[in-house]
Amino acid sequence: MTHTANTPPSFLIVGAGFAGSVCARQLADAGHRVLIIDKRPHIGGNAYDCLDAHGVLIHPYGPHIFHTNSKTVFEYLSRFTDWRFYEHRVLAKVGEQLLPIPINRTTLNKLYSLNLSEEEAQAYIERVREPRSPLKSSEDVVLNSVGKDLCDKFFRGYTRKQWGLELSELSAGVAARIPTRTNDDDRYFSDSFQFMPAQGYTRMFEAMLDHPLITVQTGQDFEALREHYAGVRLIYTGPIDSYFKQCFGPLPYRSLRFDHEHLAQAEDFQAVGTVNYPNDHDFTRITEFKHLTGQKASGTSIVREYPQAEGDPYYPIPRPETEALFKRYEALAEQESHVTFVGRLAQYRYYNMDQIVAAALSCCQRLLD
Ligand code: FAD
Ligand code: UDP
Repeated sequence: MTHTANTPPSFLIVGAGFAGSVCARQLADAGHRVLIIDKRPHIGGNAYDCLDAHGVLIHPYGPHIFHTNSKTVFEYLSRFTDWRFYEHRVLAKVGEQLLPIPINRTTLNKLYSLNLSEEEAQAYIERVREPRSPLKSSEDVVLNSVGKDLCDKFFRGYTRKQWGLELSELSAGVAARIPTRTNDDDRYFSDSFQFMPAQGYTRMFEAMLDHPLITVQTGQDFEALREHYAGVRLIYTGPIDSYFKQCFGPLPYRSLRFDHEHLAQAEDFQAVGTVNYPNDHDFTRITEFKHLTGQKASGTSIVREYPQAEGDPYYPIPRPETEALFKRYEALAEQESHVTFVGRLAQYRYYNMDQIVAAALSCCQRLLD
């Protein structure tokens, strides 16, 4: 994986997360020499994982659970990792109760002390939901699905904390990520492939980038190389507004503070991978990593997520105002003929990992055609 000044790369890739790493591999497999850089001291982007000081495999940038309906994406990543079957389950703390989220039959029965059958649960939801059309905001989506009481108990407070915005201020797609069920399915995701990389995400990225035509430089900011590689074809996966020096003003992103903790005495901290706290505390959720990774270690490590406005950009903020500003940057991007913008922050899309892999694969397909 060496790169010398005498052999300039045919592509410079900014960002070694899913978007950048998939592109690097695809281009290298097609015979191109690639230099991939990341300003962080590691590869993997936000999906990076590592052992903490106590030997527990953790996700420093928050819990990452792989799920997809795309056989193509799953098979592509399977070139670089074995998998461990894992279906994520989440409980929400409402009052003193821990209840399945997404809302399902169990949630309704426990919350309201009922004994509804599946048909009765369906009829219950039909009765309490507040049909809305069109579904423009996330509030429309939630009220349309489950009505006011369930919206107030499970969604309003969580959303206010997570985004610093009301449900009514966010585009429909945000809350539409969470389904409503009337059966007993308590999995967080419904996708046909739900697995974790058996040796972790970082090992998978190492395998992806292990190619004689790929050079990796971590701890390297694009700004320091911008002039030097001015003529080289570029794949940019960082925040799109940063590339254009925020010429139209900053695009807003939501950030998080991750509060990691190791509990040496405890074998288990909580019953499932994640517990959501829609109404109490300043954090939105606590994740216990051993559930996700299946690691057998003494003690256990958890992370609390505290949403905040300032800090590293983690989430684009889907709402009409931000979409309009993004479109202005996108128009500039289209004129940058030697640059391809791909990734969650470059495309300003609330994409999961599998969607980023799919976007990177099709972007390389276009570049190589
Ligand atoms: P990133 O992973 O952000 O990579 C971009 C890289 O570019 C970064 O490493 C950054 O350091 C680098 N970079 C930026 N600017 C520069 C520069 N100027 N110079 C050099 N390098 C630069 N998805 C799921 O499918 N399942 C989940 O459970 C899940 N959980 C998540 C939990 C949290 C808390 C967060 C924030 C996201 C989660 N995601 C999840 C989404 C997932 O993280 C993203 O879809 C995916 O990591 C995006 O990959 P990317 O390559 O576009 O961006
Ligand atoms: N959400 C909520 N309550 C929950 C879970 C999710 O209100 O218990 C809403 C909230 O607005 C959140 C969005 O649904 O930001 C998407 O949730 P998801 O778990 O997909 O968020 P991510 O894992 O991407 O942070």
